[in-house]
Amino acid sequence: MNTKKDIKELVKLLNNYSDSYYNKNISLIEDKEYDLLLRKLEKLEEQYPEFKLKNSPTSKVGYKTLDFLEKGKHNHKMLSLQNALNFDELDKFFERIQKDLKDTNLEKLQFTIEPKIDGVSISLIYEKGILIEAITRGDGFVGEIVTQNVLQINSIPKKINYQKKLTVRGEIFSTLSNFKRVNELAIKPFSNPRNFASGTIRLLNPQIVKERNLSAYFYQVVFDKEDNKKLKTQNDVLKLLKELGFPIYQDTILAKRNKIKEALIEYTFVRDKIDFEIDGVVIKINDFSKYEILGETTKFPKWAIAYKFPPEIAITKLLDIFPTIGRTGLVSYNAKLEKVNLLNTNVSSATLHNLEYIKKLDLRIGDFVEIKKSGEIIPKVIKVVKAKRSPGLKKWKEEINCPVCKEELIFSKTKNDQYCINENCASRKINVLIHFVSKKAMEIDGLGEKILHTLYENNIIKNIDDIYFLTKEKLQNLEGFQERRISKLLSAIEQSKKKSLENVLFGLGIPNIGYKTALDLSKEYKTIDLIMDKTVEELIELEDFGEVKANSIVDFFAKEENKKLITNLKNEQLNFEYIEDNFLSKQKKESKLYKKIVVITGTFSDFNRQNAEKRLNEIGAIVRKSISSKTDFLICGEKPSQNKIKKIAENKILKTIKLEDML
Ligand code: NAD
Repeated sequence: MNTKKDIKELVKLLNNYSDSYYNKNISLIEDKEYDLLLRKLEKLEEQYPEFKLKNSPTSKVGYKTLDFLEKGKHNHKMLSLQNALNFDELDKFFERIQKDLKDTNLEKLQFTIEPKIDGVSISLIYEKGILIEAITRGDGFVGEIVTQNVLQINSIPKKINYQKKLTVRGEIFSTLSNFKRVNELAIKPFSNPRNFASGTIRLLNPQIVKERNLSAYFYQVVFDKEDNKKLKTQNDVLKLLKELGFPIYQDTILAKRNKIKEALIEYTFVRDKIDFEIDGVVIKINDFSKYEILGETTKFPKWAIAYKFPPEIAITKLLDIFPTIGRTGLVSYNAKLEKVNLLNTNVSSATLHNLEYIKKLDLRIGDFVEIKKSGEIIPKVIKVVKAKRSPGLKKWKEEINCPVCKEELIFSKTKNDQYCINENCASRKINVLIHFVSKKAMEIDGLGEKILHTLYENNIIKNIDDIYFLTKEKLQNLEGFQERRISKLLSAIEQSKKKSLENVLFGLGIPNIGYKTALDLSKEYKTIDLIMDKTVEELIELEDFGEVKANSIVDFFAKEENKKLITNLKNEQLNFEYIEDNFLSKQKKESKLYKKIVVITGTFSDFNRQNAEKRLNEIGAIVRKSISSKTDFLICGEKPSQNKIKKIAENKILKTIKLEDML
């Protein structure tokens, strides 16, 4: 083993992960894995201090600030927290403080136990009761000034009843429900609420920050020197923050050491109920008089620790593997599991994706498997615990026949997937209907999965067009369908007829045609008739359109039953035209760049310069090459021209924005 080399590699790897996490808001690995690697590095450095590197993440706080944002210096360094990944590490923390606080009986000390909110730390400065500056943590000494963005967060008080200078610190985050709402509308969804909050608070356009509806909780107050001794405990701080109108977490627990583990378990239940993500709890000594004795390291205070929740993984027995058939006939496999508790919910099934995934795992019925749940997503089987495998378990064999229509299943060319090719398979047909009424398609409220099953089984809706033949008479004898419900459903169906071409095109469920492709086609050809007339050769001329998609379109509309479907839907007065107002004009009018003069600088990950200009023109911006007094916005990519930034300052144009925030 070459320890020096190992340390160097770990430092490089971790710094790379941190850079991506903090500055690009992309997590290249799970936080838990990052924490374990960091722990490994800490241990090696402890054993071999001579090999410790200057740029080691074990002695650094936070991150290098973003170049395009103005910097602000913290009046008191913003530290990170030491963390405990299990109860043993927590006990070691108590042992350390007992050693340092020789004369204190640790058992009598009180601790606050606060949620560790998974967001972005922020420092707010108030003068004469007015919020004058908001700074991110940055590297602990210098952060990014994001005052205009913070002013957009409703729950943060802009004025407080405290006349002297006051610094307040806390965490900015997104609630889970808000994150879901924004992500449903986003063209490019965010990976998790933390990355969403961190990216949003450092945007150059406060209006977007406002729309993204972030939240905040506060937990620390830094007074001016003469007022330093005003408060005696962390509990007093929380009370003062509340009095001044700051949002705080209301249910912080105050407990002695012997009750802390109970409180931690309590928090794992709380975690499932609250509408924001926490990745652990923060345990702080309540009595401030101990803080001076304990002091701090370059990275964290010694009087607090973050206890990070254990990984969201459970181990259980695989009882069976069963297939389900999607609308395209693709077979997905699921695991039937021995019931197990995972993050306080009972889990008895999990997804296994497809044949390839099962083959890779080398699964056998009777195996013990690791399952994982993240956020709202259904749990998935991630690993076989081979050490627990009983001898003699037989290799699992895939299904040969469709479990619903019993037709023989067909393998894909790669043999990694299977399909039911019977277009009349009930499972396929019901899933076609579910897709057609879904949000990005016809968005018919009141036609949920369960109701569609009932209507299908009662021979009321078998095909898409049957939805538009529904009448009061057909529904009124079904259980649960009272007058009001029927009229609501019929009016939602009626309403759906006005949807734009891209919605219905996507809703038809043509293989390989997702929402974006449906939108591109609709923008290009405007009516379904023109799309139906196109040849493969003509379609592949379009940008982002390969042979697979082109063939899919042509094959779909070549089929008599699909032509008949379109005719039937037209007879029922469905709209088959692209309603520009639906997407582009709405986007145009809502765009901050509509009729504004903009200049581009730097490079963009998602666009080359030509496409960026095209997209800006589409949303109504007027793109110019150089900056003048008439320029409204400078659109900044990576590595913007410093010359242009300087000119912006000279011309007193305050607004520089990032392209992806505008599109
Ligand atoms: P941290 O997130 O482990 O803890 C410190 C922070 O917790 C504080 O700065 C504060 O902002 C926050 N906090 C939340 N609630 C708090 C409360 N009630 N009281 C006090 N502070 C509270 O440390 P960090 O330095 O911010 O970030 C390091 C962590 O970030 C790592 O442990 C890892 O989990 C994650 N990370 C992940 C990657 C990745 O690639 N996945 C990369 C780098 C860092």
